[in-house]
Amino acid sequence: MNIILLGPPGAGKGTQAQRLVEKHGMRQLSTGDMLRAAVKAETAIGLEAKAVMERGELVSDAIVSALIGEELDAMGPDTGAIFDGYPRTAAQAEALDEILAARGRKLDHVIELEVDEDALVERITGRFTCAACGKGYHDKFEQPKIPGTCDKCGGTEFKRRPDDNAETVRTRLAEYRAKTAPILPIYDARGIVSKIDGMADMDEVTGAIEAILNS
Ligand code: ADP
Ligand code: ADP
Ligand code: ZN
Repeated sequence: MNIILLGPPGAGKGTQAQRLVEKHGMRQLSTGDMLRAAVKAETAIGLEAKAVMERGELVSDAIVSALIGEELDAMGPDTGAIFDGYPRTAAQAEALDEILAARGRKLDHVIELEVDEDALVERITGRFTCAACGKGYHDKFEQPKIPGTCDKCGGTEFKRRPDDNAETVRTRLAEYRAKTAPILPIYDARGIVSKIDGMADMDEVTGAIEAILNS
């Protein structure tokens, strides 16, 4: 199974992808995570991407598509892929078709998380993750059960993204509207898009995704 989770920054893509990984042993392919790892490691790609990401603009199509191809090659052919934050432009959508076809994979579902833009700034400015395992949390909507301790790994250090501030979110949303939302019709024409209410409770969103995967 190969699926795309589509939605603006803060829609809940990462949260839901992590749940699918836990439950179904699928693999989350987040270009944002890959790029942040490259920035941290100060690779050539990381050095090129850092300032672009800090501004909330999009990194070049060639870079992210190459990262996706490498990541797919590193996983077993039978492991399902959850594309999280990719594709984000029409050129990336085209590239993904080729990347998948070359590996004998096909896209099963594009799941769009529909959210109110007004809610996204609060979601994003309250977001943090476990520094050790990457599990996502939120100041108001998903705190660790024991304060200061990660539910998943027991880690006690957490981090926040430098681009998760109200100002950068606006640029990221504008990029989403201008470049990413327009790719939906490509998938709509293939009849593989399902829209779900991303404003619902996290567990309800998970249930809606499960229903689509089982359909
Ligand atoms: P979000 O959680 O807000 O959806 P991501 O972690 O997916 O954000 O992405 C963070 C930043 O990394 C983006 O603002 C952009 O600069 C860059 N980025 C991630 N994925 C892509 C992509 N597919 N194409 C271009 N840039 C990307
Ligand atoms: P994305 O990957 O689409 O940028 P995330 O999954 O990181 O979004 O979610 C952004 C923030 O909102 C996180 O802190 C997460 O805990 C929280 N969040 C995710 N889904 C929901 C939801 N359905 N209701 C409330 N908060 C949510
Ligand atoms: Zn953890």
